[in-house]
Amino acid sequence: MTDTQAYRGHLIGIIGAGPAGLYAAKKLAEAGGHVVLFNRDIKPGGLAEYGIFPTKHKMKEGLRKQFRRILACPQVDYYGNCSVGEKGELTLADLQTLGFDALICAAGAQGTKSLGLPGEDAIGVMHAKDLVYYYNHLPPFSHRQFPIGKRVAIIGMGNVMIDIAHFLLRLRTEVEEVIVVARRGPAERKYDEKEYKYIEAFVDQTALRQETERLRPRLEAVGQDAEALIAGMTTTATPARPANCSGRMLFRFLASPTRVLTDVDGRVRGLEVEENGLVPRNGDVSARGTGTYVELPLDGVVFAIGDRVDDAIGLPYAHGAFLTNAQSDTADPTSAAYQVYDPVHHKVLDNTYVIGWSRKASEGLVGKAKQDAEIGVETVLKALATIPAPVPAAVVERRQSIRRLVEERCVYPITKDEIALLEEAERQIAVQAQSEEYKFDSNEAMLEAINCQKARMA
Ligand SMILES: Cc1cc2nc3c(=O)[nH]c(=O)nc-3n(C[C@H](O)[C@H](O)[C@H](O)COP(=O)(O)OP(=O)(O)OC[C@H]3O[C@@H](n4cnc5c(N)ncnc54)[C@H](O)[C@@H]3O)c2cc1C
Repeated sequence: MTDTQAYRGHLIGIIGAGPAGLYAAKKLAEAGGHVVLFNRDIKPGGLAEYGIFPTKHKMKEGLRKQFRRILACPQVDYYGNCSVGEKGELTLADLQTLGFDALICAAGAQGTKSLGLPGEDAIGVMHAKDLVYYYNHLPPFSHRQFPIGKRVAIIGMGNVMIDIAHFLLRLRTEVEEVIVVARRGPAERKYDEKEYKYIEAFVDQTALRQETERLRPRLEAVGQDAEALIAGMTTTATPARPANCSGRMLFRFLASPTRVLTDVDGRVRGLEVEENGLVPRNGDVSARGTGTYVELPLDGVVFAIGDRVDDAIGLPYAHGAFLTNAQSDTADPTSAAYQVYDPVHHKVLDNTYVIGWSRKASEGLVGKAKQDAEIGVETVLKALATIPAPVPAAVVERRQSIRRLVEERCVYPITKDEIALLEEAERQIAVQAQSEEYKFDSNEAMLEAINCQKARMA
């Protein structure tokens, strides 16, 4: 028997149809498996649909094409608008009784992170992911009100910071200043240089130079070259600002937020930061507080410091992550990193795996999520090869009983055929409006569009 034959016919459940879940489904189906995807959102794609910046049309459409091909595979079932977890239509325990040979959690990292600062609940404190979902039209975030203000701090210095700054300065004309607050210095910036070009036009170059001059002694104390750092952040001839966008972008390096300052109405009026120095640590540098505190006047604060997984899904969880077997002393550390670990019974949870951002929150781009899904699936396939596959008739029967349960529990579960109808409805509106794309921003509008398309075809 070849390896591929050994895998043939198993039934695998996947929670989440973002890039990790979809690429895992592709690989499992190619190996002969049958896959059922349960997805919280009506549409598949996760952050590829609802995270990647809205103007990156080519990238988003390229990914959608790949996802359509995966969903078109007859071995893959899709149920959108169907959440798994304590607050979902199905619980993890439900899935564990549905006869899956393996369960994979690919639900991304839906929880937000903050710093536990006094004043963090103030009006005007926001989380990057909520904003990202808002401007990418994911219900219900698409209908939330965000009190953004004129002077907004973004805490964090990664790619998500770039997208938030891009949104605030380009699409919110009321924003006059965006101040990036970072614990360490310009050398420790974490965003990809190619992403920086999207916001470079907004960066106040004079202020950037002044900020670097202010920090020069602290940078040079750890052997960093202030001139080279400025040059590194002004790589191209300063691009022109888009018309009607007058806001500017500033950096406040070596600053650890310590308090969100509020007014009598509970709104943000500023951010207190502690000035930091840098100290060498294991070949890198770390920030160390100097005991000097400064107040930055602001009316909005956005945390862009990464995410945590959603513990309501029901898998063993600690400190923002699902627990895996990775820490155990195992002969196969790669596989262990994908196996969920139950700390109560001190053993691996039977046939249960995590991949993508559910395994490592906020780690990397779509390519990384794909790679992680593929390595995770190798582990799943290795385990499946040791158990007999159900006979084809049993798989058909299980898929039907899963469908029945989904229809019983979910108010309006969306199948892959209905996704095709929805996409067609959006395409027609975009063509009519001569716009690059159109997206419904409420579940009700999506469901209505699907029903209209059905009625038209009847
Ligand atoms: C702001 C931002 C911008 C980005 N820009 C880029 C970019 O330009 N280029 C790039 O390559 N990458 C980009 N990325 C990274 C990329 O989006 C991620 O690497 C990738 O989407 C992670 O895939 P995932 O499947 O692990 O998680 P996600 O994409 O988060 O997918 C999770 C899926 O699980 C579903 N789900 C969640 N909870 C449940 C539940 N309880 N039950 C059932 N389903 C559930 C969700 O509906 C979703 O479909 C960006 C990320 C962010 C946050």
